[in-house]
Amino acid sequence: MLSQKTRYAIRAMQHLADHFGEGPVQLAAIADTQNIPAKFLTVILSELTRAGLVESQRGRDGGYWLAIPPVDITYGDLIRHMRGSLALVPCASRYAHEKCKNCLEEGECRTRALLLDVRDRTAQILDGIRLSDPIMPVPAFIGDEA
Ligand code: SF4
Repeated sequence: MLSQKTRYAIRAMQHLADHFGEGPVQLAAIADTQNIPAKFLTVILSELTRAGLVESQRGRDGGYWLAIPPVDITYGDLIRHMRGSLALVPCASRYAHEKCKNCLEEGECRTRALLLDVRDRTAQILDGIRLSDPIMPVPAFIGDEA
């Protein structure tokens, strides 16, 4: 699962992408529209600023805007920035690879092979969709469906 922080970061970045080229967007506007607690959003936007994805300006007319056009930011980039990797386990990460304790031989582990395939297919999807791309929401699940 993606952490709450990563999910908020995605929503904040989508909001900034929707308003790209319109000047600084106030934190309160993002927080209200995207239903993100303002204090948590401040932390997330600072992190995105340090990562070079967002720029900010203090003051009454200040706010936040994307440092890079939304067409140049993929969902893969964004999620890697926030969670370090797209993989479900560290040993299946291609950019942040790590073994866990008590590991089997990596080259012989079926779990790793399976999750590496999941990672690669996830990357294929997330690296192919940009913040500028339209994404149609889908109806909510009902009852046991979720
Ligand atoms: S045991 Fe398998 S899944 Fe666990 S870290 Fe080692 S290679 Fe990865």
